[in-house]
Amino acid sequence: MTRTCFRAGSVSTPVPRDAPSPRAASIRAMPTSVVTGGAGFLGSHLCDALRGRGHRVICVDNLETGSLLNIDHLRGDDFAFVPHDLTQRLEIAESVDFVYHLASPASPIDYLRLPLQTLKVGSYGTHNALGLAKFKRARFLLASTSEVYGDPQVHPQPETYWGNVNPIGPRGVYDEAKRYAEALTMAYRTQQGVNTAIARIFNTYGPRMRRNDGRASVTFLNQALDGKPLTVFGDGSQTRSLCYVDDLIRGLVLLAESGEQMPVNIGNPEHEVTMLELAETIIRVTGSSSRIVFEALPMDDPQIRRPDIARARQVLGWEPEIDLAEGLRRWLVALGREPVAAT
Ligand code: NAD
Repeated sequence: MTRTCFRAGSVSTPVPRDAPSPRAASIRAMPTSVVTGGAGFLGSHLCDALRGRGHRVICVDNLETGSLLNIDHLRGDDFAFVPHDLTQRLEIAESVDFVYHLASPASPIDYLRLPLQTLKVGSYGTHNALGLAKFKRARFLLASTSEVYGDPQVHPQPETYWGNVNPIGPRGVYDEAKRYAEALTMAYRTQQGVNTAIARIFNTYGPRMRRNDGRASVTFLNQALDGKPLTVFGDGSQTRSLCYVDDLIRGLVLLAESGEQMPVNIGNPEHEVTMLELAETIIRVTGSSSRIVFEALPMDDPQIRRPDIARARQVLGWEPEIDLAEGLRRWLVALGREPVAAT
């Protein structure tokens, strides 16, 4: 007979009362992963993937930008949701094998609205997640970002590039929070011996992105599906490299399960598209009659972005497999729509 008790900020493992049932024994034999930010876009897909790999998953989230709808299907014995603000100390009773630290506002709309929360979760939140990994002797993975490269002067961006970031510009709260989080991660590794990994994630798209999160792919897709004009910033010549979420998650898990300690870019270098090309592609794939309108370019919007993934290929044997046409097709299908044209 087992009993599972969950409350904010603390998790108890199922406690055997009599002789352990086969079910309880199998739960204890599972690796346990904590996913901070697990109710968000990437975090919820990561929870899915880890459950698929037989992990028990503890999702820690304060729902600032995430949603219970993203994880509702996961409720069960091997999944726990802990409502918790990670800027506060996190205690988990049971043993933990992996800490995936994804909690942070991630889209410009969110971190411009939540500048202090973004800085706090990047600093105190990362400190708390690293403290948990240290205490549990768990492997720690930081979800960092291509934004650490800022508006890059080197193209494509290898991990050895130090970046070009405006620390006092509007995006500085996110970029510098992530740069600080990387420095903190390296310090816990060198001074405290924590087994750490750093993934520098490039633009990712797919199901469960919030309609109103402001990122170009989801904004264009919903504008096209709603028959509204697609709003392209500037002249649309700025580029992003787009990676489908399943490829990204596969890369994160491979990195966590490797022994790699240095930052690794995870993104799709094949799909560097201008924002104008992306808008046109989405209009074609959805069969929308929407037109394109141009709006002022936001301050410090990076002009170019493309990962150099030589390290990911070399140390993880990872590269993306899903091209833009297939990714957009899968996304539309997940939304219950049928794509009408190949890209
Ligand atoms: P998201 O906003 O969908 O998810 C972030 C999650 O973190 C949300 O569920 C939110 O509620 C939670 N969160 C925020 N502050 C918290 C706090 N103080 N305590 C507990 N939970 C908190 O964003 P996402 O796109 O899924 O991004 C996840 C991670 O990946 C972020 O760290 C982001 O910086 C990184 N990343 C994402 C992308 C991308 O293209 N999606 C690119 C680069 C890096």
